[in-house]
Amino acid sequence: MHIFSTKKDLINCILTHKANNRSIGFVPTMGALHKGHLSLISTAKKKNDIVVVSIFVNPTQFDNVEDLKKYPKTLEKDIKLLKTVSCDIVFTPSVEEIYAENIVSETFSFDGLENQMEGKFRDGHFNGVATIVKTFFEIVQPNKAYFGQKDFQQLQIIKKMVKKNRLPVKIKGCPIYRDEDGLAMSSRNIRMSKEQREVAPFIYKTLKKVKKKFGTKNVTEINEWVKDQFKKQPLLELEYFTIAEEKTLETAEIKESGKKYRAFIAVFAGKIRLIDNIRLKK
Ligand code: AMP
Repeated sequence: MHIFSTKKDLINCILTHKANNRSIGFVPTMGALHKGHLSLISTAKKKNDIVVVSIFVNPTQFDNVEDLKKYPKTLEKDIKLLKTVSCDIVFTPSVEEIYAENIVSETFSFDGLENQMEGKFRDGHFNGVATIVKTFFEIVQPNKAYFGQKDFQQLQIIKKMVKKNRLPVKIKGCPIYRDEDGLAMSSRNIRMSKEQREVAPFIYKTLKKVKKKFGTKNVTEINEWVKDQFKKQPLLELEYFTIAEEKTLETAEIKESGKKYRAFIAVFAGKIRLIDNIRLKK
């Protein structure tokens, strides 16, 4: 496994692989790797000759300074984990290597996708995400790039960015990987206290009940029911719950035929923000 921290070294290596007609799969991450990340990498390994994983805590996508400061960094452990899934190349640049002195985002339009859900609560987040992903695509030049459905809005936004900028990369969405108790794996989970970690599976349990209710109840009834459930959970604070159409991510008020829906949720366990989502069936 090769580890590069400069663009120049990584690009040299990529160009050699390209010259040999090898396909490149890319998995961007912020490190503190867990089985969710590894599942993306394993999928990429099956479909590409070479897999590149980036580990970079991108400052421009954080709207909360404390969250950025406290973002877990476990590089040595990450490297060991990456070897277990036969990752080929790891890219671990510094902030200066990527942004030089200018740590700012480009401004994008994602045809309204950016104004829904996370966009309402995390100012500038998706401009930061798109800036770093576009930059990495230019450096890594992947044939395919893999993103988790855990961050479903991010996945849709990346697909939109690729389409609008006609970037030559295929975006693949991968299923949400969960702990045994149902909690969606996240690098932030290790920051939770024992008590918070114990109640956190309530989020997915509620989503599963929502999925059942979606067959018989209307959207307003479900929204009210979810709010009531979280009022009974002192350790979890509901930030938003929304049933939205998959394509536009617009909040649904009624169920329309021919449309696909998903339920999206963001919850605070103390200062730790957790998100999750589930596909719904009418
Ligand atoms: P992050 O390091 O949190 O920025 O995540 C890097 C990539 O891994 C993103 O595409 C995430 O959507 C994906 N990811 C994170 N957690 C999970 C999970 N539990 N299951 C599947 N993919 C995930």
